[in-house]
This record gives sequence, structure tokens and C-alpha cells, in this order.
Amino acid sequence: MKTLSFAIFSALLSFALFANAAESTLTPEETEYIEAFTPIAEIAQEQGFAIKVAVISHKSKNLTKVFSTFKDNQCIFGINIRSNTSNFDPMDIKDNISRRVMLQAILAHEMGHCYQDTLESKDEQLLKINNANGQHERELRADLFAIAWTAVYHPEDFAETIAYLKKIRGLNEMREFSIYPTPDELTRAWGFKSTSGSTDPEILKTIATRPLDAIFASTTVSLVK
Ligand SMILES: [Zn+2]
Repeated sequence: MKTLSFAIFSALLSFALFANAAESTLTPEETEYIEAFTPIAEIAQEQGFAIKVAVISHKSKNLTKVFSTFKDNQCIFGINIRSNTSNFDPMDIKDNISRRVMLQAILAHEMGHCYQDTLESKDEQLLKINNANGQHERELRADLFAIAWTAVYHPEDFAETIAYLKKIRGLNEMREFSIYPTPDELTRAWGFKSTSGSTDPEILKTIATRPLDAIFASTTVSLVK
């Protein structure tokens, strides 16, 4: 998705800037997404990742409510709600999972793509390997990243986050998009959780870059304290 054009960009996380005055008011759902995204993006920025947020006002080819793309050495997060034509809302889950945790998982998944794209842009060899591994592995890594994100920054949400991602990846609507992981593939992420507090943030770059088997081997040995 590297050639998407955006109607509008925001350089500030807390504000979405609109080119057209008629479009300048964020909807409540857009505001909810941006507010939930801001603390995630701030942590990523502290770790050296360049982030921009774009509120998409025109009809986009992208069916998801939020997506990430990498352009001009920065991650661009598209908040793609107002003209979204998809009937699938990943937060329309009947289980007892909080909206906050669902949103956090969805946005951390996109941040996982940002880490992958940014680190690949600095490492040609890694880019080659990841491209060869294909889209399914990319989506699996992003889900594993979202689970690891909660293990690091919100360990109290860990079990709920895994339950949520397994739930949506098991839905028939999602199975149509066959690039996504199966619920079983996410089960191994239980090992990401530290038994005594937060997991080392180093796990995030590991998930974005290392072979999957090495991720599962290293998380039980050195990254989980
Ligand atoms: Zn994804």
C-alpha cells in the first residue's frame, strides 16, 4: 500500500488537519481512534519511529478503519472511517471485551507494521527476507506485536488482548481475508507475558525483525523476565 494518496495529513498526533474547511470537524469515532492512538504513537516516537496521522475523508480503497503505510521514511496511519465501505467493524464483538482493549489491540497491530516497515527500510537484507515470507507472516507478526505491546505496556490487559485477537481472527468475515493469522497461531504468544510485571520492550523490535521460531525461542529465554 505504498502508493496511496491521502486527502489530508496531520503532523500532530492530537489534531487532524483538514485541507477543506467543510471537512474540518472530526467525527466522535475518529476522535476516539486518534485519542487511543496518541499514547501508542508517543511511545513509538520516543523509540525513534517517525509517525504521522492522516484522517481520510475521501473514498479509499482500503477497507479497514485504520491502516498504516510507510512513505518518505515515516509511518503514516490512516484513520479511514467516514468513507469506509466495509460492513465489518472489528469492535463489533459480542464477547465481554472492553472497547478500550479492542482499540488498543487494533492500533498496536498497525504500529507493528510501522516497526516492520521502518526497520526494513534500514536493512535491505531484512526487507528481502520479509518480502519473500509474504503477507501472511506480516499480518501474523503484527498481531504478535500487538500482544507483545500489551505485555510491555499494559500487562493487565494481556489475556483480554489475546482473547480478542483470537476471536476476530476466528470470525468467518475475517477468514475471507486469508492473509490473517488463525487463532491457533496466536496461542504461542502466551509466552510473551512476564510472570513478574512488564516484559522488556526489546521484544517489540525482535518481533518485527527476527525469524518467527527465533522469536518464540528467545522470548522464553531472555526477553521475558
Ligand atoms: Zn495488518
